[in-house]
Amino acid sequence: AHLYTMAMVDGLTGLFVRRYFDARVDEEIERARRYGQAFAVVMIDIDDFKHLNDTHGHLIGDRVLREVAAAVKGELRGVDTAARYGGEELVIILPRTELVAAFALAERIRARITDRRIAVAADGPVLSVTASFGIAAYPDSGLGSAEDLVRRADRALYRAKRSGKNRVELYWADDSGTHRAIA
Ligand code: GH3
Ligand code: MG
Ligand code: MG
Repeated sequence: AHLYTMAMVDGLTGLFVRRYFDARVDEEIERARRYGQAFAVVMIDIDDFKHLNDTHGHLIGDRVLREVAAAVKGELRGVDTAARYGGEELVIILPRTELVAAFALAERIRARITDRRIAVAADGPVLSVTASFGIAAYPDSGLGSAEDLVRRADRALYRAKRSGKNRVELYWADDSGTHRAIA
């Protein structure tokens, strides 16, 4: 059980690894189809993280990443699953949650991240950081596979970045997702 935990938990953030997320989201899709239970996926990407790394160094970047992960954990219920999706991208599965309810939760996490002050050194500068969010829910964002759902959350995230960052965007079923593509 200990080895299993080590393989499924990301060492830096303490969140689940991508592989675990992939398995869980497949499970949720299955459950949603069979029992008609809604659920949501929230994608989170830290804003201007490359600049933060370049300015303060990779170790500070790591600390910020841990702080963001802690802010996420602070808002989750026991049934929710948070994972590190990629380098500085986190993802959450919210069972029994519709798009609008997921938005409210994401807004709370966004506020928590924005409010956090991270001390770089004892007498050094104090950093603040923001993140952008994209949310897709089943079935509010349309039917389809787990992959489709994650892609939709990613589309919404992209829109959040393009419209100024530090914000939450939703993907609705009637959203082609392309109407805000690069002109
Ligand atoms: P945007 O606001 O558009 O998201 O800009 P960004 O700079 O955050 O995005 P980009 O994807 O260009 O850069 C992500 C950076 O995150 C690049 C990479 O060096 C950094 N990064 C990824 N994983 C880690 C990590 O584990 N630790 C640290 N310190 N940095 C990481
Ligand atoms: Mg990124
Ligand atoms: Mg980023």
